[in-house]
Amino acid sequence: MTPPTALTIAGSDSGGGAGIQADLRTFFANGVHGLVALTAVTVQNSLGVQGFTEIPADVVTAQIKAVASDMGVDAAKTGMLATAEIIRAVAKTLDELGMDFPLVVDPVAASMTGHALLREDALEAIRTELFPRATLITPNLDEVGLLTGISVSDAASQRAAAEALLEFGSQWVLVKGGHMRGTRECVDLLTDGSSYVSLSGPRYETNNTHGGGDTMASAITASLAKGASVPDAVAAGKKFIERCVAEAYPLGAGVGPVSPFW
Ligand code: PLP
Repeated sequence: MTPPTALTIAGSDSGGGAGIQADLRTFFANGVHGLVALTAVTVQNSLGVQGFTEIPADVVTAQIKAVASDMGVDAAKTGMLATAEIIRAVAKTLDELGMDFPLVVDPVAASMTGHALLREDALEAIRTELFPRATLITPNLDEVGLLTGISVSDAASQRAAAEALLEFGSQWVLVKGGHMRGTRECVDLLTDGSSYVSLSGPRYETNNTHGGGDTMASAITASLAKGASVPDAVAAGKKFIERCVAEAYPLGAGVGPVSPFW
């Protein structure tokens, strides 16, 4: 039987922990067929990102059109988009396709090791070009700070940040609390402006969280491809990433990946 399809528009991680490598194995683990529009090739290992080369914007467009016209897209996500030119090309292509599928925008700006994954001014392009087209955006607290200027430290500031982000035009906002310091629980807030869902889960003490954001966003995208509602897809994505973090393993001298083995 043909499974649903999910498209990732994102970069490659030579270390195999994040990027399209994380997306494809998460799609597979969640029973959907993964399609790829590659945006950049990163050179990285567990110690960090040494550099990246972007794919020409017209080649990103051509990849999206090739798979969409022939195989169909049931849901899509964006990860590392590298440049404002690629972001504008993705937005235009999604419009040309008629966008009859859910879109998850993970506003990837930098790696957790602090290396930029976007050229200058490109985060602003994600905000203006992609957020208004997004079903859901999934920023972590660093990205929330860059996008809104709000430093989230508790439930009140998390709610204020979610409301500020909604103004940028996505249908739903998920403010992930995983990077909040000193809390025993990991609390994410999901809202569309009328309902507010607080998703709480255990915080695992591990250094090995590389690829966590990508894995959660692609697990959500897989559920959307299978027809789940946004709240149900986010709840399933959170359960999936919790398990991947719980089973994360050391690899290399730096930050190991969240685990697809369980
Ligand atoms: N490399 C690529 C290609 C990515 O897409 C990402 C995150 O989206 C990263 C690296 C950084 O991952 P992390 O911050 O989990 O280390």
